[in-house]
Amino acid sequence: MTETAQVRPVRPAPDSLTSFFWDGARERRLLIQKCASCGRFQHPPEPVCHHCLSFDLGAGEVSGRGTIYSFEIATQAFHPWFADKIPFVIAVVELAEQPGLKLITNIVEADLAAIEIGDEVQVTWHQLDDEFTLPVFRPVGG
Ligand SMILES: [Zn+2]
Repeated sequence: MTETAQVRPVRPAPDSLTSFFWDGARERRLLIQKCASCGRFQHPPEPVCHHCLSFDLGAGEVSGRGTIYSFEIATQAFHPWFADKIPFVIAVVELAEQPGLKLITNIVEADLAAIEIGDEVQVTWHQLDDEFTLPVFRPVGG
């Protein structure tokens, strides 16, 4: 649809805390904030480690494997850019690296009627525009 194609998407707004995540995504690498002191991941990035209170935080690459923790199927476009994309899946994916390490994302390449909590998923990439690539997830196997 020409009308919606001209609407610009809602884009991320990287800052000093989150730019590593978007830089990694542009290279199709899923980088998650990692504490250099205790080794735990946390997401979204914060100025301090929630586990050990260290400020010595970096980034670590994760496998991109995970499971669907929760999801919903969006059937209304709350921004014009989504008008030709509904229905689509908004999900919370728990990454394989650490219990409770969760990422809000979309599930793609999936039979919407068959998606279930606990399904195994794998990261794949959606290039939003020249600047941003988004980590999204697809079901593993059938
Ligand atoms: Zn820590």
